[in-house]
Order: sequence, then C-alpha cells, then structure tokens
Amino acid sequence: MARVTVFTLGGTISARGGDAARMSGREVLAELGGDHDIVLHDFRRVPSSTLTHADLAALAAEIRTTVAAGSGAVVVQGTDTLEETAFLLDLLCTTERPVVVTGAMRRPDLPGADGPANLAAALAVAADPACRDLGVLVVMADEIHAARHARKTHTTSVATFASPGTGPLGHVVEGAPRILFR
Ligand code: ASP
Repeated sequence: MARVTVFTLGGTISARGGDAARMSGREVLAELGGDHDIVLHDFRRVPSSTLTHADLAALAAEIRTTVAAGSGAVVVQGTDTLEETAFLLDLLCTTERPVVVTGAMRRPDLPGADGPANLAAALAVAADPACRDLGVLVVMADEIHAARHARKTHTTSVATFASPGTGPLGHVVEGAPRILFR
C-alpha cells in the first residue's frame, strides 16, 4: 500500500461527546483500526467554520511538500466548509498524487458513526494509483467527487455530499476505488 499523509483539522469526526472534547488526530485514526502506512499531522482541532485562509494556505503548503515527497494526502475536517477547502486545495496543490478531503456527519460516539468508514474510503483512494490525476477529491459515503463540483447538500444526512449536474467521479466498492470517468 502506498504511503498516505493524514492531516486532521477537527470537525464532527473528532467531536466525541460534543465540541468541548475534541479528539487528537491519533484518536481519530484509532477509531479506524487496522494497519496503514500513515504519517499523521495533527494540524488543527477546530470546527471547520473557524478555519482561516491562513490555516488553509499553511495546509496547502504542507500538502505540496508531502506530495512532492511521493505520498498521497488525506485531509480530515468538519463538513460545513469541506467543499470550500477542497476547492481551494484544488487551486493551490497541482499534483498527480491523490489529495482527498473527508469528514463525518455523525459524531464518533453515536450509533452508525460514519467517520471511520469515510476515513477508510479516503485512505483507499489516496493510496490508489488509479486515482491519480483527478485533482483534489472529496470522499464521503463511499462516493468520490471532484472538488470542483462537490457540494454539501443537506444539513444532517450522511449522503449529504453530491456533485449536482455531473454526479460522482466514482465509488468505493467494499474498500476498492472504482473511477467511472475522469
Ligand atoms: N460543525 C461541524 C464542522 O463543520 C460539522 C461537521 O464536522 O460535519 O466542523
């Protein structure tokens, strides 16, 4: 499996018991279980509405260094501004390596928490050579969206991310990314 660098920024995926108890990047990854070749950057621990342009510029700079060293990248953050982060990274990080943004709609302490599944799918996409040269991607609910088209379309649904007008570029099927069009 190819190396993937994970940047955790906070959001619901890290909010076990609510916003006051924000988990570390290591704790977020621990929810996933299993063995992965991951380098972790515990980048920020905030609700995504408080991320600043300076935060995202710093993130883009770190991602550029990361992908230049041959790693894929996964950004884990709150969903409220996830589409904006993905769009900006798509403009600032030109690379053939997969750069994937993901998060969760359900907190980790709720039944059916979607964070671990979204993270696993994002890692699979970031590590897959078939997912190169697609620009920055949003992976949520086993769907792979182009940053340019991805939108949060619902306040609470786990299927909130969609690409109106185009549909997703592909899906993650039982852990394996399948790209339908480029
Ligand atoms: N309010 C949260 C945030 O954007 C929502 C989420 O993570 O999904 O940080």
